[in-house]
Amino acid sequence: MSVRVRFAPSPTGALHIGGVRTALYNYLFARKHGGTFILRIEDTDQNRFVPGAEEYIIEALKWTGLVPDEGVGFGGDFGPYRQSDRKAIYQKYAHELVARGHAYFAFDTPEELEAKRQAEENFTYNLHTRAGLKNSLALPADVVQQQLDSGAPVVIRLKVEPGQDIHVRDLVRGDVVFQSSELDDKVLLKADGMPTYHLANIVDDHLMGITHVIRGEEWLPSTAHHVLLYRGFGWEDTMPQFAHLPLILKPEGNGKLSKRDGAKFGMPVFPLAWVGKTPEESFPGFRETGFLPEATINFLALLGWHPGSDQEIFSLDELAQAFSVEHIGKSGARFDFEKARWFNQRYIQHTANTVLAGHIRPLAEAKGYRTDEAFLEQVAALMKERVTFLPDFVEQGYYLFEPVHTYDNDMIRKKWNPALRPAFEALIQEIRQVAPFEAPAIEEKVQQFMQENALKPGDVLPLLRLALAGTMKGPAVFDMAVVLGQAETVQRLQRFLEYK
Ligand code: GLU
Repeated sequence: MSVRVRFAPSPTGALHIGGVRTALYNYLFARKHGGTFILRIEDTDQNRFVPGAEEYIIEALKWTGLVPDEGVGFGGDFGPYRQSDRKAIYQKYAHELVARGHAYFAFDTPEELEAKRQAEENFTYNLHTRAGLKNSLALPADVVQQQLDSGAPVVIRLKVEPGQDIHVRDLVRGDVVFQSSELDDKVLLKADGMPTYHLANIVDDHLMGITHVIRGEEWLPSTAHHVLLYRGFGWEDTMPQFAHLPLILKPEGNGKLSKRDGAKFGMPVFPLAWVGKTPEESFPGFRETGFLPEATINFLALLGWHPGSDQEIFSLDELAQAFSVEHIGKSGARFDFEKARWFNQRYIQHTANTVLAGHIRPLAEAKGYRTDEAFLEQVAALMKERVTFLPDFVEQGYYLFEPVHTYDNDMIRKKWNPALRPAFEALIQEIRQVAPFEAPAIEEKVQQFMQENALKPGDVLPLLRLALAGTMKGPAVFDMAVVLGQAETVQRLQRFLEYK
């Protein structure tokens, strides 16, 4: 049987980075087994629906390269893949479950249930309490029929049978056992005709031929109800296998990583920026921070999965080869942002200059800088060993794009000596003559100049650097001159002399 897995987010806001990891593990599992990766949008909870969230999810998957084979926006033979488009299907199956004796109608109003909760601490609708409540198991058949005919609000609940051991053989956690007597009679179909998560999820996993459910650990308790649903429908034979992924923990390691931790620790916890109604509800993204998608994926892959070797750098293809559910950890994985930075540095260093130029272009454009391809590739080559994030190319390397506005005056005071002026003027003339204008040739002229004037590199190079960049920070000075070009280099040296 060929592997079919799904990523099933609810469009309730920006997709958390943990959601991207879930998508990634599903994707890798599908690739590894030559299977199918499906995107299903679970949007049946109308109260939590957020406009734009579905588009965000799709964009995030495309950015990271985790492109679904089937799903909302990607086509496929098992659609529709958006749950709100499948309402009639869930209604049919909910009623089928009632007919099979594994679900029942309940007429209790929200007010009545609230009154129960007030009166009784820890009140639950379950096999112990249902006989005293308003449902088709407790009421006489004619009253039930009357209620149904009257059009009064009705929900369908799962009938949990007593005394059942529910074994979930989880591929990550091993055998997990639940007792049915501890479970509540979950609502499956709500009064508005919409399914709850549990019903929709199981019906869809069945109809879409899902073979493996790989999802966050927070869904493990729900799995007990899911198993009962599979049993109730008579689908136990084709029930998917489950794998529950460990939590992603805060950088300091205690507690689950939350969206608020982004602001608290000064790091993104979403793949893409999300613009909410207020600044508090708006969040930065990995993309906008300047992560390469490949680095983001590599970082996330190792957040809860280990390859069983020391290898750390993996392309998506290599990950798909190496991935195995057995190597997913049971304990939470700490969100180590330093590690994410390290991955990005590594990836930038190993990315072709032509590709980097493509990333730098929009950043340069936004600042009104020059964007010609050859120049941007030179900037990429010059700066790639020094930057962490993509915007660093223009932010740290601003002096490659702008004339020098200010000089580090402390440094000038330390290094400049008016007696140097004539020699410097002569050096500028020499530099004007260097052809072709390449780093070794420029260096040779400068060496000569130092010898003739009995100067040491420590006397001259800082001054050249100041002249070209205004600051002492930056890449090798002769390489910088080449990127600036001969005319600009000469002009900057002259300006520096004038400034002195
Ligand atoms: N809609 C659920 C979520 O938002 C899906 C959980 C599952 O994969 O079953 O995570």
